[in-house]
Amino acid sequence: MRIIVARPGLRWHLKLVRTLAVILGDQLNEDSAIFEGFDPQQDAVWMAEVTGESQHVPSHKARTVLFLSAMRHFRDRLRARGLTVIYQELQPGSLRGLLERDIKQHAPQQVLCVWPGDFRVKEALAPHVHRFLEDRHFLATPDEFRQHAQGRKQLRLEYFYRAMRRRYGVLMEGDQPLGGSWNYDAENRESLPAGGPVGLIEPLRFPPDLTTQVVMAAVGQQLPGNPGSLASFSWPVTREQGLAVLADFVEHRLPLFGRYQDAMWTGEPWLYHSLLSAALNLKLLDPREVLAAVEHAAAPLAAREGFIRQILGWREYVRGLYWLKMPGYAELNALHAQEALPEFYWTGDTPMVCLREAIGQTLKHGYAHHIQRLMVTGLYAMLLGVAPRAIHEWYLAVYVDAVEWVELPNVIGMSQFADGGIMASKPYAASGKYIDRMSNYCGGCRFDPAQSTGPRACPFTTLYWDFLMRHEHALRKVPRMEMQLRNLARLKPEQKKAIAEQAAVIQEAGCPTTSSLEPAAASAPPLFNAL
Ligand code: FAD
Ligand code: SF4
Repeated sequence: MRIIVARPGLRWHLKLVRTLAVILGDQLNEDSAIFEGFDPQQDAVWMAEVTGESQHVPSHKARTVLFLSAMRHFRDRLRARGLTVIYQELQPGSLRGLLERDIKQHAPQQVLCVWPGDFRVKEALAPHVHRFLEDRHFLATPDEFRQHAQGRKQLRLEYFYRAMRRRYGVLMEGDQPLGGSWNYDAENRESLPAGGPVGLIEPLRFPPDLTTQVVMAAVGQQLPGNPGSLASFSWPVTREQGLAVLADFVEHRLPLFGRYQDAMWTGEPWLYHSLLSAALNLKLLDPREVLAAVEHAAAPLAAREGFIRQILGWREYVRGLYWLKMPGYAELNALHAQEALPEFYWTGDTPMVCLREAIGQTLKHGYAHHIQRLMVTGLYAMLLGVAPRAIHEWYLAVYVDAVEWVELPNVIGMSQFADGGIMASKPYAASGKYIDRMSNYCGGCRFDPAQSTGPRACPFTTLYWDFLMRHEHALRKVPRMEMQLRNLARLKPEQKKAIAEQAAVIQEAGCPTTSSLEPAAASAPPLFNAL
C-alpha cells in the first residue's frame, strides 16, 4: 500500500489505496457490485481510455466517442460524490498495460473488477484482478443460464423466455401469461403502409455537450483512420439522458413497436425502435426499469410483449449463451464460409439499395435496427459465404451498442448459422423477396427481387438459391428447412446451372459487377418465383 495523490473536487490531498476498483467503459452503473464495501477513505476507482480498445477492431468513431464521453461523465459524477477516481484519458496502449503500470505505481492491496462483457478483456485483466464480481445489471447469471441449459438437447429462446417471465412476474396473471398467450408475433411484424410510416416523431437526441466535444476532438486526432462519421452524433451519454430516451420511446414509439418492428423504409433509420441498446449496454439504464416502464405503459399488449421479449428474453439469452460457449464459440464456422468481407461494407458504395441504406445509416449514426442487421447486412454475408470471423469483426466495429457478449451470438449464431443451430433452429436464409415485402427498398433499386438470373437479377435472390444448392446436404438435417429445399427441388437443372454461374461471379467480386450481369443473362430462363 502506497501513498497516492487524489483529487476529490478541487482539493489535492494524500491518500492510501486499499482496493483499486476497476470500472470498464460498459460498467457505468452506480449500483454496481464494485461499490459494495467501497470506502471512499481507503479505496479508489480506476478507469482508462486506450486507443487499443478502438483498434483491435476498427471501432466506428461514434462508438468510441459514446463510450469515452459516457465514461468521463461517470467519472465526474463519482468525483462529485467524493470518490477518488484514477482516470487515464485517451492514450496509446492496452488496458492491461496501463493497469499494470498503475498497479505498480499505487500498489493497492487488492484489485477488483465486475465481470467484463468481453472474454478477451477478462483474459487480459485476469492476471491483475484478484476477483471478478457478479454483474448485477443482468437478470440471469451465467451460472443460472448454465443450469437452464443443462440436459437440454437444444437451446431455444422460447423456454428460457417463459421461465424468465414466470421468475420475474412480468406480464403474468398468476402462473399464466397476461392475455392468455406468451407470444403475439401474429399481431406483430407487419410491413409499413404503401405510403410509408405514419405518425413518426423524430426521436429525442442530444447535441454533444462540452465533454463530448472534447472527446470528439481527441478521437479525431488519435484515431483519424477509424470508420464512421461524428457529424450527427447525438447518443445519450448520461443516465438522465438514457432515462429521457426511455420515456420518449414509451410515449411516442412503443405503441407501434411490435407491429412494425421488422419493417424497413428508405431514409428512416429509427422507425418505431427504442434506441435504448447503447444506454443499456453501457449500464446507464437498468433492464428492470426499462421492463417496468414498458410493462405498465398505455400501449397494446402485443407491442409491450414484443418489446419485453427482446429485453427479458433475447438480451439475457444471448449473454447466457456467450458465457456458456466461449471461447470456442467465436471460432465456429459450421458452413465452412471463407469469403472476404466485401469492401463496400466500409463505404456503403453499392448499387444494392437495401445494403446501401443499411450500411449508409450505420456509417452515419452507428445504428441499424435488428432486421437491417439480420436480414440485410447479415443475410448478404451469409449467402455470399463470408468468413464468420470477418463479419463478426465488422459488427463489433460499427455499432454504438456493440459489446462482444451481445454482438457475437447474434452474428455467429443468429445471422450466420455458423454455430450449426445452437442458437437458431434454422438459418435466416431468404431471397430478395423478403426484403421487398418488408421495405420499400426494392422499388428504388436497379435489381428485381423476383429475378435470380440475368442483368436485373437481385443478388440476394441469386445467392439465396445458390446458398441452398451449396449447402443442400447439410440443410437436409435441419427440419425447418424442408419447405425451402422442396422449392429448390422444383428448379430445372439449367436454371440451377445459370444461377450457380451468376452466383460464382458475384462471389468472386463480392458484389454484382457489370461483367457478372452479362453472360448468364443471355441464357437465363425467364423469371421464376423466389421465396
Ligand atoms: P429495439 O428494436 O428497440 O429493441 C429493444 C431492445 O431489445 C434493444 O435495445 C436490445 O437491448 C434488446 N434486443 C433486441 N434484440 C436483441 C437481440 N437479438 N439480442 C440482444 N438484445 C436484443 N444488440 C446489441 O445491443 N449490440 C450488438 O452489438 C448487436 N449486434 C447485433 C448483430 C446482429 C447480426 C443482429 C442480428 C443483432 C444484433 N443486436 C445487437 C441486436 C439488435 O439488433 C439490437 O439490440 C437493436 O437493433 C438495437 O436497437 P434498439 O435499441 O433500437 O432496439
Ligand atoms: Fe436489395 Fe435486391 Fe431489393 Fe435491390 S432488389 S433493394 S438488392 S433486395
